[in-house]
Amino acid sequence: MHEFRGNSDMRTKRIVIVGGGSAGWMAAAYLNAALNKGGQQVADIALIESPEVPRIGVGEATIPNINHILAVIGIDQHDFMRRVDGTFKQSIKYVNWVNNDRSWYYHPFDRFLKSPIDHSALEWLMSDRSIPFVETVSLQPIMCELGLAPQTLDHREIGMPQKYAYHMDALKFADYLCELSTARSVNHYLDHVTEVEMAENGDISAIQTKGGKRLEADLFIDCTGFAALLIEKKLGVRWVDCSQWLLCDRAVTMPVPYEQHYPGYVRPYTTATALSAGWIWEIPLQDRRSLGYVHSSAFISEDEAERELRDFEGGHAASLDARIVHFKVGHREHAWIRNCVSIGLAGSFIEPLESTGLYLSDLAIVMLAEHFPYGDDMASLAFRFNRIMAIRFYEILDFINLHYCLTRREDTEFWREIRNPERVNDRLKAKLDYWRIKPPSPTDFEDQFFPGQPDTPLPSNGYPGDHRSPIDTGTIFSIHSYEAILYGMAFLDKECDDWYGTGRRQSGVFKKVIEGLNIAARELPPHDVWLQQVLGMPQYRKTN
Ligand SMILES: Cc1cc2nc3c(=O)[nH]c(=O)nc-3n(C[C@H](O)[C@H](O)[C@H](O)COP(=O)(O)OP(=O)(O)OC[C@H]3O[C@@H](n4cnc5c(N)ncnc54)[C@H](O)[C@@H]3O)c2cc1C
Repeated sequence: MHEFRGNSDMRTKRIVIVGGGSAGWMAAAYLNAALNKGGQQVADIALIESPEVPRIGVGEATIPNINHILAVIGIDQHDFMRRVDGTFKQSIKYVNWVNNDRSWYYHPFDRFLKSPIDHSALEWLMSDRSIPFVETVSLQPIMCELGLAPQTLDHREIGMPQKYAYHMDALKFADYLCELSTARSVNHYLDHVTEVEMAENGDISAIQTKGGKRLEADLFIDCTGFAALLIEKKLGVRWVDCSQWLLCDRAVTMPVPYEQHYPGYVRPYTTATALSAGWIWEIPLQDRRSLGYVHSSAFISEDEAERELRDFEGGHAASLDARIVHFKVGHREHAWIRNCVSIGLAGSFIEPLESTGLYLSDLAIVMLAEHFPYGDDMASLAFRFNRIMAIRFYEILDFINLHYCLTRREDTEFWREIRNPERVNDRLKAKLDYWRIKPPSPTDFEDQFFPGQPDTPLPSNGYPGDHRSPIDTGTIFSIHSYEAILYGMAFLDKECDDWYGTGRRQSGVFKKVIEGLNIAARELPPHDVWLQQVLGMPQYRKTN
């Protein structure tokens, strides 16, 4: 029998975070709130950020998990939304992904279940599918089309709470967390790290700065973004490239200030519109819409992409500033090695189609807090941490890959290339093949290792004893998310015609959806009205 050995070393641990983007400040604020509670100071946390290296902030969309981290830090929702130009996000609307014909579908955050055993997808597949699947089980697509906020003006419960997340300015989020953390007990240094000192055992012992500071710590967190100063430049941990499956590697971003163009509404959802060599995000904030054309440099030049983005937005975009951001899709071979953990862009990045950047930082930080107080030998903790981060990374990668590979578009070289078999990863291929025999059902998500899937070990297989392929847990993208994308992208369209024949009955909408929409239309205000009346967002004049 194994004996539990608690960590008896209870001296205050020193944690140094290098980098003050949203990843660094989320780490500082969360670890401080989770560890140093009840007047106890068990972690001495310092964050150092360079005044010379700018942070990334493009106008970000989040997923509902963000609410956990905000609650632990003790953040008031209205204060948060005011400080980060925040708006509500209840869904993602995908336009032009199946065909290039302005057709669309939604991936909502919430839906109803019919009964303990939910056969709604199967029943829908057997129907004439005249109503889009998610509209039969979720309020959110129609609430989004109506432009409604998810809350009443007077914060009354109306008996149909729906999960939501936020759109926000990540730069302002970092500033806000900095203010909260430094007012508590986090030490903040504005200085550029120039040296990383190593101990004899291979740990990092200290960092040195241009300003002549030297900081020692038990644990170093690398949040230096794509610079990856500690994890890569010093410790040499390899970046595992995943561009075979996700081809996009750049974004042209363009904020559209409401002062210059206000469409007359603030959408309570993110829009992702597929263009010739990628897709455009539209993220509404309180003072602007953030636009970004995520594209593949192999298929379109920066100038052409910028032109396409401006054409998409219309004549008023001619005078707006645009900026190019380069990125790479992949992850560190080991996110945690010795006494160094990489979080945020230093650790991994997947293109933002499902808004998972901040979420991956969030997951890493929550796990790190759970692993406290770290011992002198962190190898076992790192082993578990790395495996879970890798599993989650590939879970997200599969899911984003799914959006692309089911397209029927053939209008450009990019979309033709996306459909090639080598652009679909093996795990996803095996899932889709299986689901062509039997539509997805809940137990598929207990363990997503399907017939025909090669037993490819995790790239981070440097640890002895674990060569298992990544196993999805369906924790972040459950069957409900899969069903939204699969049926939104017309998966099983042809199979259903063969399986269930013609003359099928009309698709039915859940009673709860009809009742909920009636309440929503009666009780919920337009999103912009909620933002104006509750948060004080300025009233902009609608542009003609
Ligand atoms: C195109 C694009 C779109 C995105 N969209 C979304 C989205 O919709 N939703 C979402 O959740 N996420 C999104 N993300 C991800 C999100 O923006 C980042 O994950 C997030 O901002 C975290 O960044 P970071 O803190 O890791 O890095 P950065 O913001 O790059 O911060 C790096 C920090 O390290 C510091 N630094 C660097 N070198 C040194 C040094 N030598 N000494 C000291 N400090 C140093 C810098 O000063 C800076 O403070 C997107 C990212 C990109 C690229």
